[in-house]
Amino acid sequence: MPLQIYDEHVHLRPHQEPLPAHRLQPMIDAAREQGVILGVREHAPLPEKYQVGPNRDYFFAMSPDELDGFLLQFHGTDVAFGLEVDYFPDAFDEIRQTVEAILDRARSMGLVIGGLHGSVHLLPGEIDDIPGKPPGLGVVMWDDTREHFEQLIEARGLPAIIEDYHDWLIGLIRTGFFQTLSHIDLLRKFDRADERGRSVYFADYENLYEESMFDVLAAAAECDMAVELNTQGLDRPYGRPFLSQKALVYCRQKQIPVAFGSDAHRPAEIGRHFETAAQMFAEAGIERLVYFRDLRPHYWTYA
Ligand SMILES: [Zn+2]
Ligand SMILES: [Zn+2]
Repeated sequence: MPLQIYDEHVHLRPHQEPLPAHRLQPMIDAAREQGVILGVREHAPLPEKYQVGPNRDYFFAMSPDELDGFLLQFHGTDVAFGLEVDYFPDAFDEIRQTVEAILDRARSMGLVIGGLHGSVHLLPGEIDDIPGKPPGLGVVMWDDTREHFEQLIEARGLPAIIEDYHDWLIGLIRTGFFQTLSHIDLLRKFDRADERGRSVYFADYENLYEESMFDVLAAAAECDMAVELNTQGLDRPYGRPFLSQKALVYCRQKQIPVAFGSDAHRPAEIGRHFETAAQMFAEAGIERLVYFRDLRPHYWTYA
């Protein structure tokens, strides 16, 4: 175990109803205890069009009203502040402006800036996912519950979902705006194996899935973007990190920088399953991992 682990994907609150306030201090305390250097990547406010729900947060993102209180907590600390930003192809200009305004604000407050993760948590579709949703919004939260994921499969069919998801990831990469691609295999959040070891959802589409996933990694290589090995998948029925061993080997071959991220939403989850991740890195021949300061890459070795 290294003395210090750079965990590049940490949130300041759990997803529960109603959403509690962001709290940095408990994360700082837990990180210190575990020898983790925090890379906060909190959900950024959504584009206006998608700010639905009573707090304009789609029940998971940062409400625009929470931004001040969130940023103030970093004042006087050396914790790297960063964002996990949702990508929508039809709202990218607004996303860029919003995020740049937040970064300017953080700089003027003298905060340490880490990096930006780009994510896809919402996908094209129409299901009844949240109360009070305006008709015809055109996107769906599919990663909050298995029921919603299954409803989206029912509505769109899995091949279309696989294509949409990876198309949006490639779109996100091509903007060149984000430093790290979040949890590439998030689409498998609710996946599990049947008694023959085949995926209950993806069994008939494994080839399509894998080709699409490698198209995304090829785009990352082309655009010099980092990807993360996100260990939350180990705590789900899927039982594997989001970024496969095969994908890691490809990252080494194409010199794609790889970051470690626990996607912790609670203090106890910080740095989770780092040993498993380190074993995978070693097997793939990846010796140094990336972290970001002021949107620029730095490297650390884990062994
Ligand atoms: Zn995420
Ligand atoms: Zn996250």
